[in-house]
Amino acid sequence: MLGAIVICDGCGNEELSGSCSCSKCSHILDITYMNFFEILCVEEKFQLSKHQLKDNFIKKLQLFHPDLYCNKSAAEMDIATKNSSIVSRAYNMLLDPVSRARYLIEIKNIPIPNESGFITEVLEWNEKIEDTSSVLELQQLVEEVNRMLSIYKSQMEKDFSDMEYEKAAASYAKVKFFMRVLDSAKKRL
Ligand SMILES: [Zn+2]
Repeated sequence: MLGAIVICDGCGNEELSGSCSCSKCSHILDITYMNFFEILCVEEKFQLSKHQLKDNFIKKLQLFHPDLYCNKSAAEMDIATKNSSIVSRAYNMLLDPVSRARYLIEIKNIPIPNESGFITEVLEWNEKIEDTSSVLELQQLVEEVNRMLSIYKSQMEKDFSDMEYEKAAASYAKVKFFMRVLDSAKKRL
């Protein structure tokens, strides 16, 4: 968490968390306890600048590149390797809007509703797919599902910007559902 204290392994200095190296002895600091937004120094929000995310990602990757630590202790090398790998995981998670949404909902400790919560809709769409046989009908269905998907994606974005995380979790569940419907419809094409 930002604002917390992290103790330097090298000299025992108390460093404010969020820093990547000790200000006294320049020993590398373990960042693996931070959440992915903190690791990439972006605000804990759904809306983010991909450009800034990429910039910060590259800076952090360079900072923790294991080559920079090959003359250091095994412990520092180990932290550099772990930091590098979590920086990449954080970037991949936050780059994709759908996985970013899931991650944000998870760190807010909001449960994601499952499909049994909108079972009627699930059954209706499954039936629609099964009943469609011609290519033309399937293409129309794919279009329709794409429309639903973009409606729920916009809704989810709005929920996040309103900081309505429970609503965002419900919209996320719909987004995932329509992504799955889209896959099944496309498979039949
Ligand atoms: Zn230190």
